[in-house]
This record gives sequence, structure tokens and C-alpha cells, in this order.
Amino acid sequence: MSVSASALRKKTKIVATLGPASADEASLRAMIREGMDVIRINFSHGEHEEHRTTIELAQRIAAEEGRVLATMCDIQGPKIRIGEIPDEPLELFAGDAIRFQLEGDGSNCISLPHPELFRDAQPGMQLLLDDGSLELTVEAAQPQLLECRVVVGGPLTSRKGVTAPKASLQSLSAITEKDRRDIEFALQMNVDYIAMSFVRSEEDIHELRWLMRHLRKKADIIAKIEKHDALQNIVEIIAAADGVMVARGDLGLETPAEEVPFQQKRIITLCNEAAKPVITATQMLSSMIHHPRPTRADASDVYNAIVDGTDAVMLSNETAVGQFPVEAVRTMANISVIAESHQLESGENASLRGRPAGGKDEISDAISAASYEIARTVRPRAIVTATMSGYTARHIARGRPLAPIISLTPLPETYRRMALVWGVQPLIVKQFNSIESMIATVVRKLHEEGLADPGDVLVILAGTPFGFGGRTNMIQIHRVGDAGELDENGAEFAAEEV
Ligand code: PGA
Ligand code: MN
Repeated sequence: MSVSASALRKKTKIVATLGPASADEASLRAMIREGMDVIRINFSHGEHEEHRTTIELAQRIAAEEGRVLATMCDIQGPKIRIGEIPDEPLELFAGDAIRFQLEGDGSNCISLPHPELFRDAQPGMQLLLDDGSLELTVEAAQPQLLECRVVVGGPLTSRKGVTAPKASLQSLSAITEKDRRDIEFALQMNVDYIAMSFVRSEEDIHELRWLMRHLRKKADIIAKIEKHDALQNIVEIIAAADGVMVARGDLGLETPAEEVPFQQKRIITLCNEAAKPVITATQMLSSMIHHPRPTRADASDVYNAIVDGTDAVMLSNETAVGQFPVEAVRTMANISVIAESHQLESGENASLRGRPAGGKDEISDAISAASYEIARTVRPRAIVTATMSGYTARHIARGRPLAPIISLTPLPETYRRMALVWGVQPLIVKQFNSIESMIATVVRKLHEEGLADPGDVLVILAGTPFGFGGRTNMIQIHRVGDAGELDENGAEFAAEEV
């Protein structure tokens, strides 16, 4: 089996969480061939040595398959959990009074080893336990004791998560001791993305950047939007982060689940506007955890996130512990191809097209926006950009053009990071020293990869003074020439302007 047709054609990227169901060689190879673009390592589970083995194995297979694959480490963050319940499950009934202490005995008094929650708790505050299955109200809060009333009861077992919707918990640090060790490990492994859980404001992003500077290593930061506070500070968070995840699992506890679709659309639109990659995550194909085919509701969910403008769709339990990880990736890839064909034809998302983003580089932004208008007229085989940081590629992707965006870079880390960005196909090339040598190399490389044939038109963006350091300031429309340009020793390439 080779790479599937949908994997080659789709523009929406697929992030898959690895776990016991998918961390073996055969599954990883099959998932890569079906269109997995980014692996997500969830640091809420597993040991560093296991993660090391998985990341190395996945990257080795991607190289063998000639596919780009980015690695994203998802850091647990300050997730609040209750302690041990010795006699579990503890049955709670609506109307029961129940108490929490830092170190409770587990029956009359439940242990909750998070002093910050005691500090920030207020009477009337709502607490959700076990992903929202149980609901309590705080009646009295003291520094050492919380007295609560059960609103929705059920069985409670050890170490279940506690969510305090709408509470800010300001004294909680965004990076716990465990997170710090995990971040150091991830940076050592040269991962491409670090996903930061429970971000509240841009300050949390700055704290992680500061830590990375201190450790003298760098990864791009994905801000997971799953707290009520983050929704208030969303514009600043998007500006501070390198990308965003709509983390619908916890978000649906912090805000009513009924509001999540609205927030998803709003966050995606703001990310598109800012040309930052956005991932839609959690319960996208949950029906495929136990079944080889998705429910119609799940298929619609993936389709609709793509129509909303997401760069990537994510699989969690479906690929980490599900029975059909490969089928789940295949299903997403197939839905992507269908959604993109209709979406691009009908011109949704059109409001961003041909309009510069107002980012940090106006000239590059203007040229990226112009590439969309030019592509609409000349219908190129591809839009090609040389990029050091990926900035121009992200800004071209923002207009959601019909043609693939080929992003050339000599930097392996930029090459891998582009795996997350909608519509971008990255290629590794050597440094160029003139426009002529760049075009000659580009055309030959695209031809070799089956991405351009004689007669095709390419829209090429580059920066002068030449070299990859130059900022994007030129655009050329190039028709792929005849034999001369594609010859082995085609120094005399037939560059023909159209
Ligand atoms: P998690 O994040 O899986 O790490 O909790 C995603 C979410 O909350 O949706
Ligand atoms: Mn979460």
C-alpha cells in the first residue's frame, strides 16, 4: 500500500494523538499513508522513555515514507484532581453535604491537594467533577476546608478531575513542576509544537516563552483554549501564541457545551484573520472509537469545522485507545477532500481573500494577499514560496487558495512546522543565491515530485536581496518551460514569463 489519494489531495491537516492503539510501527505507517500530518503526544499519560521511543519511531517512518510529520507535545497544565478515595466508588446523592480538605480521609472528607483552589473558592461557586458528570455548589469556603452541596450526584472514584467553571484561580501557576520537566524533555527532543493546557491570558504564553529562552531551546506554542478566562482574552492570546487549539473537551465544562459551537466558530475566524494555525479538537469522531464507520453527526462535525476555516482537525481517544485508528485518519482525510472541493468552489471564507492581514510585515502580507487574486486569474498549478520562518506560507494559506501552496525551506524545523498549516506542502531545498537558481531548482524539484509539468503556470513568491533571510517582496508568474528547463544539466533553463 502507498500513500492514499485523499492524503495527497487534502488541504486540511490531521493531528492524531498517539497511545497504546497506535504507537506501533504498522499503525504509524498506515496512519501516515492515510494522511496523518502531526502526532500529538499527551503528557497526561506515559513516561518520557516511552514518548522518546514513539517520537523517534514515528519520525523514522515518516522519513522512510517521504512524508513530512510534525511532533506536538501536549503539556498537562494545572489540572485539578481530587486525591484517593479508599472505599470507591463513593456514591453521592443530590442534596448531600460533602466536605473537601487538603488531606481528607476520603469518606467523610474528600482530599483535594490543591491549596490554590481553597484560596480562590467563593460561596456559590460551582464545581464539576469527573468531566462534568457530578455537580456541586460551594456553600462555605475556608483556607483549609470547602463545604459543598451535591446538585447532581453519581459515583465518585479516586483522582477524578475538578473544574471550577468561571473561577479564575489566579494563584494557580500555568506551568506546574511536572510540566516543567515535560517541557524540558520535549525541547530536548526538538519537538515542533508545545501545546499549553488551560491558558488564561497572554501572560501564560509569555511565561512559557521565557522558560524556553532560559533553556535556550525553541518550539512553537499552541495555546489550548479551554478556560472561561481564555475566551475573554482570546485576541491577545492569539497574538502571543504561534497557533491555537479549540480544546472542546474542557471548554465544554468551563462554558456550557451548548455554547461550544459558537466559540469554535469565533476562535477559528479570529485565527484565520491573524494567519495563525488553528486546530479543532476532541470528540470529532468519537463514534469511531468502537466502530469502523462514523455516525452522521461525527462526519458532519469534521466537515463543518473545515467549512468554519480550521487548519487542522484532531483525533484524541479515536487514535490513542480506539479500535480503528487507521480508519479514523482515513475518514478524516476523505471528509476533508469532499469539504474542500465544495468549500473552495462556493467561495466561503471569501472575506479574507485579497485582503492583507495587517501582521508584522506589511509588504509580505500585501504580496501574499495579491497571490490569491493572481491565482484566481491565472489558475496556477501551485503557489510557491521560499520561507525561513513560514510566515509568508501562513499568510498565503490565509486566503485559502485553490492551488497547493509549496513552501521551500532549507530549515528542517520550518519544514516540519508547515505540516500543521492548511494547504501547505513543504519541501526541503538547499540555500539559493539568486532568483534564477531558485526558479531553476524549484521547477526541477516540483517536476521530480510530480507537482509540475511543462506548460503549467507557477506563482512564485520570494524575497530580495536574495537569500532566505530577505523578506518576501516579489512575485513572479512563471510558465514551466520545455526540455531545457527540466534537463539534467539545464543551466540554460527556458524561463518564460507569461
Ligand atoms: P485534553 O485537551 O485532551 O488534554 O484535555 C483537549 C480538550 O480539553 O479538549
Ligand atoms: Mn483539556
